[in-house]
Amino acid sequence: MSNENIKRLGEKYLMNTYARYPVALTKGEGVNVWDADGKKYMDFVGGLAVNSLGHCYPGVARAVSKQCNEIIHCSNLYCIEKQAKLAELLVKNSSMDRVFFSNSGAEANEAAIKLARRYAQLVLKSDKYKIITMNKSFHGRTIATATATAQEKIHSGFDPLPQGFVYVPFNDIAALRESMDHQVCAVMLEPVQGEGGVNVADKGYLKEVKELCDEKGALLIFDEIQCGLGRTGKMFAYEHYGIKPHILTLAKALGGGIPIGAALAVDGVAEAFDPGSHGSTFGGNPVSCAAGVAVMEALETEGVLENALEIGGYFKEKLQGLESKYDFIKEVRGMGLMLGMELDIPGGEIVNLCMEKGLLINCTSERVLRFLPPLTINRKHVDRALGILEEVLDNIKASKRGE
Ligand SMILES: *Cc1c(COP(=O)(O)O)cnc(C)c1O
Repeated sequence: MSNENIKRLGEKYLMNTYARYPVALTKGEGVNVWDADGKKYMDFVGGLAVNSLGHCYPGVARAVSKQCNEIIHCSNLYCIEKQAKLAELLVKNSSMDRVFFSNSGAEANEAAIKLARRYAQLVLKSDKYKIITMNKSFHGRTIATATATAQEKIHSGFDPLPQGFVYVPFNDIAALRESMDHQVCAVMLEPVQGEGGVNVADKGYLKEVKELCDEKGALLIFDEIQCGLGRTGKMFAYEHYGIKPHILTLAKALGGGIPIGAALAVDGVAEAFDPGSHGSTFGGNPVSCAAGVAVMEALETEGVLENALEIGGYFKEKLQGLESKYDFIKEVRGMGLMLGMELDIPGGEIVNLCMEKGLLINCTSERVLRFLPPLTINRKHVDRALGILEEVLDNIKASKRGE
């Protein structure tokens, strides 16, 4: 089928939840993808931080295919080897002690929210229930995680929303302190906000957030669904800050493209869940966990994290170098290979022009170009992407001058 026909078929039968590009990606290898008409692109969207090891990473493909010939699914009523192994890998690589597996990021956050409430009610025996989240956050699309997401557009039309969510500005410790009453059971935030525009938490801020949580008896939940698992050049973004959360959520990159999410917690907190208190039919399924094991093994052994840090630094420096050339660039920010370029013009047209020239990038929060390439790219890939981006920015600059 052609791009055109695939688009038309989808438009006829799918709910209209995405404004899709007229392109169907049908093949991928490493940093490259091809559309249904055979056009090749460099993929700096990476399935929105899912394809951290590039497309069709051989270790994942092998593990999934092998698992599919052994056992594809059995209920969580039984023990699952790959699930236990993946939990072990996650615990050994983090400061967490126990793992609950889900199918998506939103469900990982649902688990975190339920765990925090249950811990407050059944372990602390308190009346704490409020969860404080940050403006411009993104935590998912279920009714509770959409409510946790402090963005008006995500809430619109879904009233009544669940109770107990309080919003404060990000990187504003005074505002948080003001909202931290005795009913707060948890503070939930992304150390680097993704959908909200690649906003990086200040170093001192997260330390103060942790101290405040400890002082008030609230849990600290880090949503590292986008920024975790090597994206920032460390296994977890919190490692840049020298503090540890009580609960950590992961998803996007964890399955190398196979759907999986995880909520991790430290001992003591994790104990608030006991048999029957939470669950999932597919969560921790053998195939997704086999993929997860392959991803974790790659992240552990193949120098991927070091590469993300090194190439991310190179890429960021080059992007910053463009700031003086184009006056519509406001700021370049981010960590590792999670980079954003804030513009004072909408970024949609730049994304379209880059796509025409064979480079996929994303624009979030209308004005922030977001770059989430595989963590395995090299300087040549970055240079090629920058070449295309500069051509496009030159066009934009020329057309602005002509206005
Ligand atoms: C993508 C994302 C989610 C939601 O994940 P889904 O798998 O789409 O449910 C939650 N939090 C953050 C930070 C994300 O980037």
